[in-house]
Amino acid sequence: MSDDFDPDWGTATRGVRAGTHRTPEGEHSGAIYMTSSFVFESADEAAARFAGEAPGNIYSRFTNPTVDAFSKRLAAMEGGECCVATASGMSAILATCLATLESGDHIVAAHTLFGSTIGLFNNYLGKLGITTSYVAPDDLDAWRAAITPATRMLFVETPSNPLTEVVDMGALADLANDNDALLVVDNCFCTPALQRPLDFGAHVVVHSATKFLDGQGRALGGAVIGDADIVGDRVFRFLRTCGPTMSPFNAWIFHKALETLEVRMRAHSAAGQRVAEWLADQPAVEHVYYPGLASHPQHELAARQQPGGFGGILSLRLAGGREAAFRLINATNMISITANLGDTRTTIVHPASTTHARISAEERARAGITDGVVRVAVGLENVEDIIADLEPGLA
Ligand SMILES: *Cc1c(COP(=O)(O)O)cnc(C)c1O
Repeated sequence: MSDDFDPDWGTATRGVRAGTHRTPEGEHSGAIYMTSSFVFESADEAAARFAGEAPGNIYSRFTNPTVDAFSKRLAAMEGGECCVATASGMSAILATCLATLESGDHIVAAHTLFGSTIGLFNNYLGKLGITTSYVAPDDLDAWRAAITPATRMLFVETPSNPLTEVVDMGALADLANDNDALLVVDNCFCTPALQRPLDFGAHVVVHSATKFLDGQGRALGGAVIGDADIVGDRVFRFLRTCGPTMSPFNAWIFHKALETLEVRMRAHSAAGQRVAEWLADQPAVEHVYYPGLASHPQHELAARQQPGGFGGILSLRLAGGREAAFRLINATNMISITANLGDTRTTIVHPASTTHARISAEERARAGITDGVVRVAVGLENVEDIIADLEPGLA
């Protein structure tokens, strides 16, 4: 059995080779351990394992070899010391917050976060006396101004959803360090194939493995990556006690999916770039939001932070408002109309009436998510077919 990887390996090689857990059977593809508990040779061994004096598995809420193989592989790809796998992306964020924050603590977060993350912060952490302030993701002065003596966490997604605003992670990491706070980055849109937030000073990376890590729309999962003292100790202990652990079956799916992550993300990025450039040439399109376009206000920063590529997610704004947006979406034939993203299949959605419908109209206006905005998550179909499917609705 080997959990080793060569530190000189690139991200693709790590995705294929790191976190390999091979049994004496010599299986080439990773085995799956569907078991809730593990047996001991003797009462003495059981006692030693429970006391933490002997290594080994006890119960799959604590550790499981399949989940461990996935965690080690993802940690290697993100360049992190430790990774713990969770039941979903939301439980990764919940575990990170409950393991590191206390009542009275304060979070500063980007106002463009995934809707359920805002719900978790406002409704559930709020109830525990953990408060959150929201700022424009790309306005460093706003982040600085929102910090209070109680601030212990900065939380961001970059690029943002749906307008692909890019956050300067190095600057936010400095701000976090100056204020005894953790910078937590939700790296769901980029994955380590495109961007490694820990390289820019982020303290913790969280993932919804449900999205690009699987990339095939099959299973729910999440992960938290960072240093041993935060993730290996605090987050792991929360998970072991409170229970939102990843199922071994889902871990087996994600472990395999990581082998193709780099090549998939490269394909998503190439197609995203092509669709963005095509959209920018369409007279009906007022604006295209995509970090790979030279017209994007943070194009250079995105190129520096995302050496692997600009990703497959873009938005466009139509002059005709909601009516034009609905016409474009309804004129598609092949593309899936769904709020989900990070799939082999291209998806299209109207953020103002779906993913961002719960925030107030004023807040949406402030964030620039107007009624004419449509988000496209570009999949792995032939890019000509994606463009051909968008064309009728823009005519
Ligand atoms: C989907 C998503 C989540 C939540 O993940 P689940 O696996 O659905 O719980 C968190 N953050 C972002 C950016 C997402 O897109």
